[in-house]
Amino acid sequence: MAEVLQKVVDEERQGEAYEPFVGDPNVFNKKFYIESYGCQMNFSDSEIVASILHNEGFGATRNFEDANLVLLNTCSIREKAEQTVRNRLQAFRKVKESKPGMLIGVLGCMAERLKAKFLEEEKLVDIVVGPDAYRTLPGLITEAEGGQKSVNVLLSREETYADISPVRLDSNGVTAFVSIMRGCNNMCTFCVVPFTRGRERSRDAESIVNECKDLFNRGYKEVTLLGQNVDSYYHSPMDGEVTNFAQLLEKVALVSPLLRVRFSTSHPKDITDDVLHTMAKYHNICKYIHLPVQSGNTRILQLMNRTYTREWYLNKVKRIREIMPDCGLSTDVISGFCTETEEEHRDTLSVMELSRFDMSYMFSYSERPGTLAERRYEDDVPEDVKKRRLEEIIKLQNQLSKENYQQDIGNTFEVLIEATSKRSEQHWSGRNTQNKVIVFPKGERNLRKGDYVHVKVSSATSATLLGEMI
Ligand code: SF4
Repeated sequence: MAEVLQKVVDEERQGEAYEPFVGDPNVFNKKFYIESYGCQMNFSDSEIVASILHNEGFGATRNFEDANLVLLNTCSIREKAEQTVRNRLQAFRKVKESKPGMLIGVLGCMAERLKAKFLEEEKLVDIVVGPDAYRTLPGLITEAEGGQKSVNVLLSREETYADISPVRLDSNGVTAFVSIMRGCNNMCTFCVVPFTRGRERSRDAESIVNECKDLFNRGYKEVTLLGQNVDSYYHSPMDGEVTNFAQLLEKVALVSPLLRVRFSTSHPKDITDDVLHTMAKYHNICKYIHLPVQSGNTRILQLMNRTYTREWYLNKVKRIREIMPDCGLSTDVISGFCTETEEEHRDTLSVMELSRFDMSYMFSYSERPGTLAERRYEDDVPEDVKKRRLEEIIKLQNQLSKENYQQDIGNTFEVLIEATSKRSEQHWSGRNTQNKVIVFPKGERNLRKGDYVHVKVSSATSATLLGEMI
């Protein structure tokens, strides 16, 4: 999952200020401001943190100048992600210097990777908290309010925050993330996640289903089940039935046929036919899979410790299309991994052509401190070669996306209305089951966010379908 869990947040969009809602000053006499970076898991964690802070009497604010507590939920996936956080901290310097008592805290993967060193490197920071220690945030805040810098970066083998109801941040009131597990047991050599998020543990199935029921009863129409590798979800309570990922998917799908179910991220070695057949069985389980490939060459995949081969991956894609011919597919690709040759780079391009991805998250290899790759291999592909290969990958993907989206012209899709289009007040925006964004005129019908409509596609770009309601 670490690749990019998102989702929606590429590096340009990182740092989207999360300002859940203005705290009612009558209820909350202290205010927090939170920004989240990186993957969906981090955004989901920020909702857990907001819930913990609310219970401590903190309301939220949209302006960090008004905050008593400023939090950055950080990402450590690439050097650039960390530099973005360091730059952002500088933006708070003036306000902090003019506002005695304001506290600045860093959360997430960069906090876990750097630990107490973060305080030495960034004097502005008062609190450092790792992804498994958010319950201790109130105590750490009290320590920091007392003038003592505070740190808790202990990783846990049990923590899933299952009993904490997330406070939905910046929500459209229609779609929500639901974290089903934490950590990762895979050891992809380029990845920091096993070191920043710890060992894998699956959350109690019943608490997940209850959270989805609660969301549906509150008007939400779509949940995305989140995990670094959802296919290895496995909950086996001491007393009670074991639940694997296919079974969990079915339980959530049975909450209501009007509740769409998505999930992210899958792992090619673990996704099973059971999961694919369960997806095919339920209309409300969306026909879309994010299946990171990373490289199209088996030797490079072995160096990455991805535990599958080029052939295995292509067979998985073939199997997905056999069971769900219309299934949407996206992936993650890394260009220029250690020792990658031109021919091996071309293997990545050919896997993309054969898999015909609707979209991809594409990055050049960024060596991360403490990872297996950093310890074992030399980062020997020159930056200009990495860049040129990445450009070729992006160019190919843009071509594939354009062709895939063009093929949808004339087709009709069921669309869940999520919001008014950013480009036009007269247009709705939503997604089809394949996770493609569709924009269409509102017309005269009395519709609102959360409604399902059918839209016939009349034109397309490489990232958006345009159409008319029918
Ligand atoms: S170790 Fe591999 S599977 Fe796990 S989060 Fe990282 S890239 Fe994803």
